[in-house]
Amino acid sequence: MWTLIPGVQSYEWGVPGGAPNSLVADFAESTPELHFQREANKPYAELWMGTHPNVPSRVIQPDGSQVSLNDILRNDHSLLGSNIVEKFGVDNSCGALPFLFKVLSINKALSIQAHPDKALAEQLHQQKPAMYKDDNHKPEMAIAIQAFEGFCGFRPVKEVRDFVTRVPELRTVLRADEVMDKRLQEAVDAQSRGDEKEACVRDTIKLVFGALMRADPQVYEPAVSSLAGRYERGADEVSEEVRALIVRLNQQYPKDVGVLCTFFLNVVHLERGQAMFLGADEPHAYLSGHILECMAASDNVVRAGLTPKARDVEVLVDMLTYESKDAAAQRLDAPVWDGDSQKGTVIYNPPIPEFAVLLTTLAPGARSEHRALHGPSIIIATEGSGTYTVNGKKAEVHTGRVFFVEANQALQITAGVSGLIVARAFVEVA
Ligand code: ZN
Repeated sequence: MWTLIPGVQSYEWGVPGGAPNSLVADFAESTPELHFQREANKPYAELWMGTHPNVPSRVIQPDGSQVSLNDILRNDHSLLGSNIVEKFGVDNSCGALPFLFKVLSINKALSIQAHPDKALAEQLHQQKPAMYKDDNHKPEMAIAIQAFEGFCGFRPVKEVRDFVTRVPELRTVLRADEVMDKRLQEAVDAQSRGDEKEACVRDTIKLVFGALMRADPQVYEPAVSSLAGRYERGADEVSEEVRALIVRLNQQYPKDVGVLCTFFLNVVHLERGQAMFLGADEPHAYLSGHILECMAASDNVVRAGLTPKARDVEVLVDMLTYESKDAAAQRLDAPVWDGDSQKGTVIYNPPIPEFAVLLTTLAPGARSEHRALHGPSIIIATEGSGTYTVNGKKAEVHTGRVFFVEANQALQITAGVSGLIVARAFVEVA
């Protein structure tokens, strides 16, 4: 077990250091060895914990010196565990670890995007290597540490139909006509009969969303402005939530086509401890709040909106799964983990091999016993304080402090007087 020095990334969508809730800056200050200097006007967006070559975490050795975690793991494979080295090697795009663990503080929406699956990533990398720099899929998982909202997946088709029927600016941009209305109605009927797997629902959402993505800026820019203006003045053909979100997104990205994606994508709200997994080819965007994010293997992004960057429209419209379901269905369950003999831990285990996350929540003075994991892990305290014990060695922890725990070591966690919440990202091979 080692104390880690994480890295801090400043992007314009982060939370300024002077704001009351700049969690990434707060966490960064927990590691004095980072020599972090908070600036009131600088936005702090991400805390990186791992071996990614852009910002590899450093390890504090017993004598106080610092070494790159990546170098340590590449020199001593036993810390990763033989199964992990065999399956993932020690030279992933995230470094020696197959995953990167982060804390994100989101003040302003990030671009609406999707990540190509493995087969498409290979094709895109071959055809457009400047835009798609590797040939991997990029799975992502978000776990809220405070209230979070994001876009994830397509709305039930009835909601899309109702917006297309009611919102005149949307009709203009989509060039909606009786034919489109009829197709939407047929898709609503198909979904309400329960055969939502039917191609009709997907094809219809693809047709209508494709019309939005292909719209001409000369058409959608004035439409977005006029729509946001009407909603600021209180037009009420849609819910208060949709209205407020459209006004806010238009303030952040004026006249951007992504503002109109609000009519297509689910708005997912996560409370602390709730999570969502972003599978291949699912459209998503982080809108606001604070999360832990675990990701793997790639930088491939295809953007749909809320961005000044290029949109690869035809690739995007073709790649999406067009699965349509309600917002609650986008959440990832977190069952109690059977590896904690005290039952104080839940596991977020998405359907990919590169990572899973444990979340242990302890009342004051309570204890948790994690069985030895057969792979490496990174652990951060998100609230409270206490101690970790590994192999007879004890370390004090408090909010924001980050540790690396090597493979095949049991971990005991004891909460201090104010309780303790810790999140532990790990990889294990069955
Ligand atoms: Zn993403």
